[in-house]
Amino acid sequence: MHPMVKPALRRGWRDLNTVQFGMAPAHAMVLGPVDLATGSFLSLLDGTRGLPLLRDEGRRMGLPDGHVDGLVERLAASGLLDDATGGGPDADALRKKVTVVDRLRPDLAALSLVSPEPGGAMGRLATRRSLRVQVRGAGRVGVVLAALLAGAGVGSVDVRDVGLVEPWDVAPGGLPADAIGERREEAARRAVRRAAPERPPRTAASGEDPGFSLVILAPRKGVDVHAPDPVSAEPLIASGTPHLYAGVVEGTGVVGPLVLPGETGCAGCLDQGRADRDACWPRLVAQWRSGRQHQVESCDLALASVVAALAAGHALAFLDGRVPSSAGARWEVSSPGLDWHSRPVWAHPACPCAATEKGKEEHTSEDGESHETMAGQQRSTSLSLTAHAARRSGTWRAHV
Ligand SMILES: [Zn+2]
Repeated sequence: MHPMVKPALRRGWRDLNTVQFGMAPAHAMVLGPVDLATGSFLSLLDGTRGLPLLRDEGRRMGLPDGHVDGLVERLAASGLLDDATGGGPDADALRKKVTVVDRLRPDLAALSLVSPEPGGAMGRLATRRSLRVQVRGAGRVGVVLAALLAGAGVGSVDVRDVGLVEPWDVAPGGLPADAIGERREEAARRAVRRAAPERPPRTAASGEDPGFSLVILAPRKGVDVHAPDPVSAEPLIASGTPHLYAGVVEGTGVVGPLVLPGETGCAGCLDQGRADRDACWPRLVAQWRSGRQHQVESCDLALASVVAALAAGHALAFLDGRVPSSAGARWEVSSPGLDWHSRPVWAHPACPCAATEKGKEEHTSEDGESHETMAGQQRSTSLSLTAHAARRSGTWRAHV
């Protein structure tokens, strides 16, 4: 172990004996009392020295025996310590790829803020390289989203779509103007490759298809964003594949729900819940789906980009082993106010996904029409988190 005080947290002394790690309240921590010698010793915890050398340095600085080990333990217990050599064999392999790690260094630092254990951040970054994600939909949202995931170190990001690139598909970070007229799928995959810090690992020519850790549905058509088709998600539900919805409909951006099949509300639950609250819902959806769309649909470029980015953030949180707040909820943002709010997607008893079995003990309110409060959202997420605490993203891999 080469202990390192997490460099992502900016250090500042509140007074002579109290040090604050971090500026922003979300991850800041105060440590004290810290005497002067210990304070100057902290600067040696930069990942370049192992424990034996640190103990020598401590003795040289007049720190009592056992003080260094005690300090390291205290920092580790507070989640302030990283290990420059930790994270396991995959992390070691990644460390050897210096140019790749240099590209991902800010992401690694960000991961260290949410990985309490020393070496955890590099371990998670290494895990990302082994994951397979599929993005369905290569429009303004889908391609940017796929490129973000590849750029953040997800090893394999597959994009699926049909047709040719239209001029209005072009977006910064997504499909470039020189791809107009090319096959959407090919152009999208090229954009993903360009965003990745390294070439994707070769997939085995033979053997079993390992499936996807996550499938993201980012349809180009507004109706498919507003009213996702439960039928097209049936294979994902049946195979137990986690999937996330994201897109833009008219002037509204949508991220969620993240569906953990059988555990959180799915597209079918959403559809049934809406039909319960509005008898006209099925009639409207049928019209929206059948009507021919002759015009280019509205899709604000900034809105599309922010949806892609937030969806990528939720996807990465899930892939890193956490349960983001889009599990069982839709985050929505509308022009021109652009304030995000979430609406719950309750598991519906009539939906064949069976999430309601899981949800019975969790949900006491069926009032899905009102906007979810932040407190309610946190409650639901924390319950969900308890249910998934022991499950790493790898356990969700499934066939599709
Ligand atoms: Zn369902």
